[in-house]
Parts: sequence; C-alpha cells; structure tokens
Amino acid sequence: MKRYFRCTVCDDMHYGENAPEICPTCETMRSYVEVTKDEAKEYFLQQKTRQAQPVREVALRFA
Ligand SMILES: [Zn+2]
Repeated sequence: MKRYFRCTVCDDMHYGENAPEICPTCETMRSYVEVTKDEAKEYFLQQKTRQAQPVREVALRFA
C-alpha cells in the first residue's frame, strides 16, 4: 500500500511505499516523515504556488 511522505527540510512531497533515502529536492538523508492523505494534500496545495513541477505526479494521485 502506498503512503504519503513529506520532507521535513523542504516540504517536498513523496507518494510511494517507502520514503526516499535522499530527498531529491534538498538532498537531505532520511528527511521524510509519513503524513496522512489530508496532510499531504494540504502541503501540496501550499507547495503548488512555489514549485509546481516536482509535485505534478503527486497531484495526479489526488484526482
Ligand atoms: Zn527535502
């Protein structure tokens, strides 16, 4: 089952079975924490105005 993860350093969102070892955005090791779908959506909406490209795939999951 896939889950939502958020980077505690740069708020990058990740959707998958496991959190990435290294954040692709800020390159911090093990910076991801699991969040609920609602939290993920909230962060996504905040992030949308800052940088749309990295979260495009995440956005599709909410459709
Ligand atoms: Zn990050």
